[in-house]
Order: sequence, then structure tokens, then C-alpha cells
Amino acid sequence: MSTAQREISTEQQVQTFLAEPRKMLINGQWVDSASGKTFQTFNPATGSILAEVAEGDREDINRAVAAARAAFDGGPWRRMTPSERGRAIWKLADLIEQHTEEFALLETLDNGKPLTISRAADVPLAVDLFRYMAGWATKVEGQTIPISVPYTPGAQYLAYTIREPIGVVGQIIPWNFPLLMAAWKLGPALATGCTIVLKPAEQTPLTALKLGELIAEAGIPDGVVNIVPGFGETAGASLAAHPDVDKVAFTGSTEVGRLIVQAAAGNLKKVTLELGGKSPNVVFKDANLERAIPGAASAIFFNHGQCCCAGSRLYVEQSVFDQVTEGIAEQAQKIKVGSGLDPATQMGPLVSDEQLNRVCGYLESGVAEGARTLAGGKKIGDAGYFVEPTVLVDTQPQMKVVREEIFGPVVVATPFKEPEEVLPVANDTIYGLAAGIWTRDIGKAHRLANELRAGTVWINCYNIFDAAMPFGGYKQSGWGREMGKEALELYTEVKAVCANLE
Ligand code: ADP
Repeated sequence: MSTAQREISTEQQVQTFLAEPRKMLINGQWVDSASGKTFQTFNPATGSILAEVAEGDREDINRAVAAARAAFDGGPWRRMTPSERGRAIWKLADLIEQHTEEFALLETLDNGKPLTISRAADVPLAVDLFRYMAGWATKVEGQTIPISVPYTPGAQYLAYTIREPIGVVGQIIPWNFPLLMAAWKLGPALATGCTIVLKPAEQTPLTALKLGELIAEAGIPDGVVNIVPGFGETAGASLAAHPDVDKVAFTGSTEVGRLIVQAAAGNLKKVTLELGGKSPNVVFKDANLERAIPGAASAIFFNHGQCCCAGSRLYVEQSVFDQVTEGIAEQAQKIKVGSGLDPATQMGPLVSDEQLNRVCGYLESGVAEGARTLAGGKKIGDAGYFVEPTVLVDTQPQMKVVREEIFGPVVVATPFKEPEEVLPVANDTIYGLAAGIWTRDIGKAHRLANELRAGTVWINCYNIFDAAMPFGGYKQSGWGREMGKEALELYTEVKAVCANLE
């Protein structure tokens, strides 16, 4: 099949998917919402309606949790060998890979990001995450523990730990990397043998629903993965509060993270949170500026700045400040902003009208508080949710644009004189998700990496992710970690067993 033919058939498949109201996945069945209600998801490049989607609410969450509970307590999932579970997860990865073009197109239509990026980053990273986690299914091990009980002299014991799946997990994900966030959440939960109710973001439910179509084909039993699209305040809140859910895993804003913690308090379910950020990116004068300038531009402009770890606070050593900021401004001006479907597009629209208004509000506040715009600063056109990549200078530490997460393509740049000055300002934030360092001095780089209060530190690179590398936040950027071995531990309970050997 030629590339052109393949593109036509992908487009037809996606059009067919979009033409029907999308249902929710409960206990292996595609069903309407209990209320019969649907909501609309929009194409952010045009503002037009993309698809109708079943609107989950409390009753749908109740049904999905009941299915997940039954699948956990009595279903075949826990009785399968770890190797069989691993193979099912691997098969899911293969199936996603086989449907790469459909996933990529759906993601671009629903989220707005360039098709080239969906194809090269979002889908392959999701595939790789499932493959990485498939390997872990057979390696969730306990330990044997030598014990020395003082009040039973002479007695011998065998003490060991078992890591068991935590149970029914509620997972609530955002709209910035819809498929990838579903993978980050589902992968470790499946590898450890949990069952799941996943709620995708209301702005971007489509790729998670498409993924749901592959669950049964991968050999994952009914009820293990349930997918309930709907709004945060209704479906999301019901899931976070549900008394029969053992753990809730959330990615989104710090504000909603707090609501999740409160909702989870009812049955003291376990909670992991991956929240906001306002990450510092530090460029020293001894950095390779040919790399640092495009690197710092990409740190903020990748995914339109809609990354929780975006390098949104740029600190540049005084003597190279103008060169670096002007270089980034020049890059910003060259970025081709447009529909994600256009192969020339480097930056698509923001995800929604609401997000556009939020980012524009920050741009206005920055200028009102005295910041100077070196590049960008405005909304683009009237159709779709486009905004210019923006560089702000002459900022002050207390400005809203410096303190608050904008979640858009807006970087604030501040000079520093001495290398020692930068650590306190870099750490001066309620967040602690990520940080970047650009220098040729490896001693300086690692000393600073040690001192930065951030879950990920990139040195001479930025936005490098891997399924094996844990990701998550210090301070108000969250609890726990995604990916890597750390994520698995957070989906297990540890049981200590002690046997008297007499
Ligand atoms: P944003 O403001 O960027 O859309 P949110 O934190 O509001 O980010 O959304 C992330 C996810 O959290 C979405 O799936 C959303 O539906 C969900 N959500 C929003 N509010 C709540 C809530 N009160 N309880 C549970 N989930 C929520």
C-alpha cells in the first residue's frame, strides 16, 4: 500500500470512529452513560465539534468500580501467571503500534498537537511504556528478612515480604498527552495485577477510548480496564471519593490535586499525584550556547508549553543574557504555528478556548506588571485557539507570570550575576517537578543538580523521558513517581509474613 493510500484509509478509519457517538467501556462492554447524556469534544484547530462522547457520572463510576472490584476479587486476572500478564501487556503495546497512524491522527484532532509529534513522540512513547512495564510483571518481588526477636530467645523464624497488587485503582488523567498519560497510568497498574477505572480528560477522551478497543484483543480480561469519560467535578470527583477504590492516581493541576486528597480521605485510599510545575532552566555563560539556545526554546515551546515540566522560568548568566534571550526570541518568531495536520506546523493550537483565555490572561498580567515582550505576546487569529510563542523579560520575582504555572508557550527570563545567586531563586517556588542546567562544567552541573529541589534535573538537555526513568514532583508538584521501578511500588501493598520454624 502506498503512503497516500495508507493515509486515506487511516483518515477513513478515524472518520468512522468519530461519526458514531463514543461509548464507555465497563466490564468489557461498550455502553451508553446511565443518564443517556453525551458531551462534545472539539477540534482545537477550528473550534468545531469533533465527536459526541458518553458522559459518565456517579452511577457510571459505581458500575465501573463494581466491575473492577469483581475482576480484582474473583476474576482471572490475578490467577494468570505474571508471565501471562506480561504477555498481554506486551500484546497491547504491539496493537497500539500497529494502529500508530490512527492514534496519531486522533490525538492531533482532539488535542491539537502537530501530527509529526503525535506520530514521533506520543504514540511510540506509549508503546514503549507498555513494553517496559510488561517486563516488570514477572519481577515484582518481595524479600527475605533476617529477624532478631528479643523476647523469644532461641526461636527461629522465616520472615519474608510479598508485594501484592493494591486492588482497584481510579486513574484520572489530563489533556496534554492524552494517550501517553493513559499509558503511564495503565502500565504499572496492569503489571502489578491491579484493576482499573480510568477517566480521561473531558477535552481529549478519544485516544483512551480507542485504546479501550484493543484491551480485549490483547487478552486482558473483562473488567480489568474500565474507561469512563466525563467531567472532573462529576465523574472524576465520584471516582476519587469512591469507597471501594483502593488507590487514586491523578495527573493534573495542583488545585485539583488538593481536591483529590480531600475526596480520598473518606476511605483513606492511597493517593499518588503528578501536579503542576514552574520549572527553572539555568543557562551559564560557559554553556555551549549553540545547543543551549534551541534547547531552552524547546524546553518551553514543546507541546505548546502545555507540559507540567516546561522550562518556564529561564535564568541566564548576565554576560550572555541578551544573546540567549534574543536567540530564543528569534526561534520563537520562526516557529510555524498552525493546524497540527499541516506537515509544516511546528506548534498547534492550545487545547481549548478556556486554556487560550487563561494564557492570554497571563500575557496581559505580565505586561501590566511591567514585563517586556521580546517575542510573541498575543493570540493569533479568530478561528481555533492559537497563541504566539512568547518570551518575557524585565520580570520581577513576585510577578504572577513568574510565580504561577501558565501552561502555555510563555517563558519568563531573568539574568543572574554570580553562579551562587541562582540556586535560591531557582528553588523559590511552591513547585518542584523539573529543572534544567546548561554548562560545560560538569562539577558545577552536578553540584547544582544535587541542590535543586526537583524530581527531574536535565543537564544539557530537556524534556528527555524514558519509561525506565522515574518522573514526579517535590513540594506541591506531587506525591509519588510515575514510570520506572518507583511507579510499580506505588501500585503494590507489602505483606510481611513471619513463620515460626519450630
Ligand atoms: P486543567 O485545569 O488543566 O484542565 P485539571 O486538573 O482540571 O487540569 O484536570 C485534570 C483531570 O482532572 C481531568 O481529567 C479533569 O476532568 C479531572 N478533574 C477536574 N476536576 C476534578 C475533581 N474535582 N475531581 C476529580 N477529577 C477532576
